[in-house]
Amino acid sequence: MKLKNYIRVFEQLLYPLKCLKCGVYIDPDTVKPHTMEACFCDHCMEPGFYPIDTPFCIKCGVQFYNNFSENHVCEVCLKTPLTLDRVRAAAEYKGIIKDAIPLFKYHSKLSVTKVFEHLLFQTFLRHYAISRIDLIMPVPLHKKKLRERGFNQAFLLIRNFVKRYQQVFEQSPLWEIDTIALARIKKTQPQTGFDIEQRKSNLKNAFKVVNQKTIENKHILLIDDVFTTGATCNEAARVLLKHGAKKVDALVLART
Ligand SMILES: [Zn+2]
Ligand SMILES: [Zn+2]
Repeated sequence: MKLKNYIRVFEQLLYPLKCLKCGVYIDPDTVKPHTMEACFCDHCMEPGFYPIDTPFCIKCGVQFYNNFSENHVCEVCLKTPLTLDRVRAAAEYKGIIKDAIPLFKYHSKLSVTKVFEHLLFQTFLRHYAISRIDLIMPVPLHKKKLRERGFNQAFLLIRNFVKRYQQVFEQSPLWEIDTIALARIKKTQPQTGFDIEQRKSNLKNAFKVVNQKTIENKHILLIDDVFTTGATCNEAARVLLKHGAKKVDALVLART
């Protein structure tokens, strides 16, 4: 047996794969590493995992279920254009990802974090490999919340983006990751249970541009975990555009 295989067997004895939801053991030989199947057993995976694929709305990124084979603009975006230029999501916010996101967001489970990081980077490559992005910014947390949680989940998703990019393209990216220029100055209520208008007013004046020079005339890509009504990303985009950003997009893990 090769050394690599010995190490693997040893690792499996020390850290057997267990379903993060129900705790049953997962046979490592039946799953690919860093996939949802490596985190959840077949039974818990039953609600399904729904990566977003063509056709989707070219503005808000919502998945279409119809016979059009081309991407197009959805009715909602035609009626009420987003402040964001475009939104892209890795998957739909339903099925197993709804169980997986809290494990990542509140418990920072390493296996889920790795899966999500990989998933988001693949989505980034798909939509932004040839786009002229200047800055990638995780949606900031209020400093009190950051202290409570200990980490910004949006930053966890992209902290290895530069390294991953260099591995794929064998050169450094033209964009930078910025975690300073935008700050969250209001500790907002959790958005759950709020309607669209309540979400908007909850977020009013929540963000502040700390360093205008960094964002001026820049094409910015905001990163967040979940996009439901889009109130958070839209408000962040509004503030960035007001202070001179050229264009603001959002890349998220899951959207409704
Ligand atoms: Zn399970
Ligand atoms: Zn749309």
